[in-house]
Amino acid sequence: MTVQPEAQISAPIADLESDSLLGDFPEGPRLVGTLCAQCGQTMIGTRVACSTCVSRDVSRIALPATGVLYSFTRLHVGGTDVRPIGYVDLDDGVRTLADLREDGAPLQPDVRVALGVDGDGWFFAPAADD
Ligand SMILES: [Zn+2]
Repeated sequence: MTVQPEAQISAPIADLESDSLLGDFPEGPRLVGTLCAQCGQTMIGTRVACSTCVSRDVSRIALPATGVLYSFTRLHVGGTDVRPIGYVDLDDGVRTLADLREDGAPLQPDVRVALGVDGDGWFFAPAADD
């Protein structure tokens, strides 16, 4: 069956192809991003179309493993469990909501953070140096 161009244009676009944001790259595990060749926009996740200009000329990239903590909070879950989460501005400007760890330096806005991987999970924690 031949799909008419109008049908392709009006068909719904699956914005994110995959649930997992963590990918394997030559430089190690990184959050997966998408770069638009048309307008230069970088987005988080594997996308089939640019969220700015809707171009489908996009490619999968590794996002930076470091960034700056923009804002955070601590969710109190089920009694004594505390789950810190926050927004991290990656070094390329992409903002993502992330689980946080505060084993070392205390969390505070504007602190440098680095990506950590724990099994299939990922988180950001204050960077060791900087
Ligand atoms: Zn674009």
